[in-house]
Amino acid sequence: MTEKLYYLDPYMSSFNAKVLSCAQSKKGWEIVLDRSAFYPEGGGQPGDSGYIGAVRVEDTHEKNGEIVHYCAEALEVGAEVDCTIDFDRRFDFMQQHSGEHMVSGLIHERFGCDNVGFHMGKDTVTIDFNCAISEEALREIEIKANALIWENRPVHIFWPDAEALSALPYRSKKELSGEVRIVEFPGTDICACCGTHVRSTGEIGLIKLLSVHPFREGVRIEMLSGKRAYDYVTTAADQCRSIGAMVSAKFGTADKAVKRLQEELVDVNYRLTAMENRVFEVMAQEYEGAEKALVFESRLSSDGVRRLADALMQRCSGVCAVFSDNGDGSFKYAIGQKDGDLRALVKEMNAALSGRGGGKPFFAQGSVNCSEEDIKKFFENR
Ligand SMILES: [Zn+2]
Repeated sequence: MTEKLYYLDPYMSSFNAKVLSCAQSKKGWEIVLDRSAFYPEGGGQPGDSGYIGAVRVEDTHEKNGEIVHYCAEALEVGAEVDCTIDFDRRFDFMQQHSGEHMVSGLIHERFGCDNVGFHMGKDTVTIDFNCAISEEALREIEIKANALIWENRPVHIFWPDAEALSALPYRSKKELSGEVRIVEFPGTDICACCGTHVRSTGEIGLIKLLSVHPFREGVRIEMLSGKRAYDYVTTAADQCRSIGAMVSAKFGTADKAVKRLQEELVDVNYRLTAMENRVFEVMAQEYEGAEKALVFESRLSSDGVRRLADALMQRCSGVCAVFSDNGDGSFKYAIGQKDGDLRALVKEMNAALSGRGGGKPFFAQGSVNCSEEDIKKFFENR
């Protein structure tokens, strides 16, 4: 059995050890040392990465009590090696894991429900609970968790004997036998856990509960702790300030200004559509009784292109085509013929003008990538 240095000191970032074995596998070289501070994946916490000597450790797992380091290259059996783990990465996991325990403990205490899933992703951390939790309740949990963080309470980790263990009201995902490692956040949580944790709650720094959504029989909560929470808040604050500057609103009030802009936009769109329709009607009058209509416009919306083609179809019995220049070498189009069948034409046009789109037999919409000249040429003898 590898001596587990991460249990002696979860802050140990470098150590020396002896290479006991080195075997090639599908995942690279599997190296076992006599002692290791590399935490092996478990309890929702990813395995550590780092270096053994000059050899990169990509991942760490535990197999039958041995800590297996998955390495890019081989190492000589018997060699004495200096090892370093990627401690910034590990400390981030410690912050996330300890934060998760605090939140799970507080939720368990308040709702009596269990953490039934925990995933520490590269970007976010999720916890699943087997009960309903409202956003309001979640905010209360977040406030309480942060207050406990700022009290900087020490974290207590111990292996109680069977008798002491049976008297402990600890959380656990499964029935445990043999030695059980208990991680206690005093006043917050007592849980069986194999992971690495911070020394005291202050090191978590900050907990941010981002969202709660229905998931399976309960909810999934997305959360961040420590530096990840700080980075998130920084990004949110930068966004808030930048949006506020665009809409001339004070920090924290941009949503009202944006809502007002949205309402104005709806109003402007409504009036624009009405005015466009009047203009389209006048344009269409010119094609009264014509055999075909090919009209070029610029910067129309997809809906505008459709409405103009529709107006033309009321006056002209032939093929009515509207192309609107997007200003980037592409055109939106709408093409229609009252009671006509344009499927073959549209197919041919898309092929000839690098286009895409379709619709009903008598009406199609899409876009083409070509010049106005190419479009005119295509319709010349049609
Ligand atoms: Zn844990």
